[in-house]
Amino acid sequence: MKRHKVSIRRSAAAAGAVTYSGGKACQHGHPPVRYVLNGGCVQCCLIAAAAQRERQKLARPAQ
Ligand SMILES: [Zn+2]
Repeated sequence: MKRHKVSIRRSAAAAGAVTYSGGKACQHGHPPVRYVLNGGCVQCCLIAAAAQRERQKLARPAQ
């Protein structure tokens, strides 16, 4: 099973893709679209990036 996932990711990487889809939904129930680079869930990554931006915004002074 694990080997199969890796081969999907490898062939996507070989094709020059940034993301690939396959396997199960992520632990948060997002569609199984993942980054070739680190195998991370694209949706989770976008959410984490947005949360990070919010935190940085809050940490800065109002102007
Ligand atoms: Zn996710």
